[in-house]
Amino acid sequence: MENQKRTEISEVGEFGLIDRLSQQFTNRHASTLKGIGDDAAVIDLGDGTVQVVTTDLLIEGVHFDLSYCPLQHLGFKAIAVNVSDVAAMNAIPQQVTVSIALSNRFSVEAVEALYEGIRMAAEHYAVDVIGGDTTASRSGLVISVTAMGVAKKEEISYRSGAQLNDIVCVTGDLGGALIGLQILEREKQVYLADPNMKPDLEKYAYVTGRQLRPQARMDIIHELKEMGVVPTSMLDVSDGLASELFHICKQSACGVTIYEDKLPIDKQTFDTAVELGLDPITCVLNGGEDYELLFTIQQKDFKTLEKHPDIHFIGHISPASEGKSLVTKSGTVVNLKAQGWKHF
Ligand code: ADP
Ligand code: MG
Repeated sequence: MENQKRTEISEVGEFGLIDRLSQQFTNRHASTLKGIGDDAAVIDLGDGTVQVVTTDLLIEGVHFDLSYCPLQHLGFKAIAVNVSDVAAMNAIPQQVTVSIALSNRFSVEAVEALYEGIRMAAEHYAVDVIGGDTTASRSGLVISVTAMGVAKKEEISYRSGAQLNDIVCVTGDLGGALIGLQILEREKQVYLADPNMKPDLEKYAYVTGRQLRPQARMDIIHELKEMGVVPTSMLDVSDGLASELFHICKQSACGVTIYEDKLPIDKQTFDTAVELGLDPITCVLNGGEDYELLFTIQQKDFKTLEKHPDIHFIGHISPASEGKSLVTKSGTVVNLKAQGWKHF
């Protein structure tokens, strides 16, 4: 034992750890079309349709802070982030299970508030809450949600499907959730220092909303379906744009070029980043938890999506040998770096 090597998780990182663990598994069933490695697993139902399954864990003190996150919003978010992973496969969510671990700090009314948010999200995304588990916890609140959805087999968008010259698209705007978190943390510290200070969050309503009540972009999935566009690859932006682009490049064995002046950022996000002394573009590239969709389309589909008000064309897929680059506003080409969202 004494000579056994101890490796810190921070040395390999979250993705390194998942890679290391997943190497031990090979799939036994032909019905397992995709196991570990995408936004959701894909299971063949045998009649040209597939089921997708995804799960996410939210831990108090790591993913949320109840001193500024209302329980109802938290319930909504727990469902939305899972629906977002179903959306990222170009599938339609149908069922969720919800498991919770509670310490005695929580009253029945508090759990009911959490579930009111879960109910609202279930209604909003048209999913059935079909089960779960409830247990005690010694360290605050833990919420684990599993979501299931369906799609036609040929309509699934994997991270591995991007092709040379495909156009890189992203929905909505980015960086807002990170800036919202910075504001909420700042106001919490102000409040802790002087409880008589009332936080003035009105001015920051958009960014704090992005952090506290994210939306899964099912609206986009339904619209793509109506327009007959199947993304060649897709994922949701949970860890940050740069990190997600790295996943596409790794799994599709390609490179990417994106343009700084095409990156979507909301005015309040921009102004607040500047106020906080942060570089807005760094926030757009590395901010997590926006839950927008990042996808690639074939050139032929550009005309169909061109006029869409909420889809932005930020770059294109290049050969793997050309690496991952960002063309700045001044035309300088720099290497794209993925800092991502570090849990460890
Ligand atoms: P996302 O950010 O889209 O939720 P993750 O980065 O959490 O995706 O996970 C990437 C992939 O790794 C997914 O396929 C997920 O199911 C898998 N995964 C994550 N943690 C584990 C684990 N502890 N054991 C097995 N698979 C895991
Ligand atoms: Mg995802």
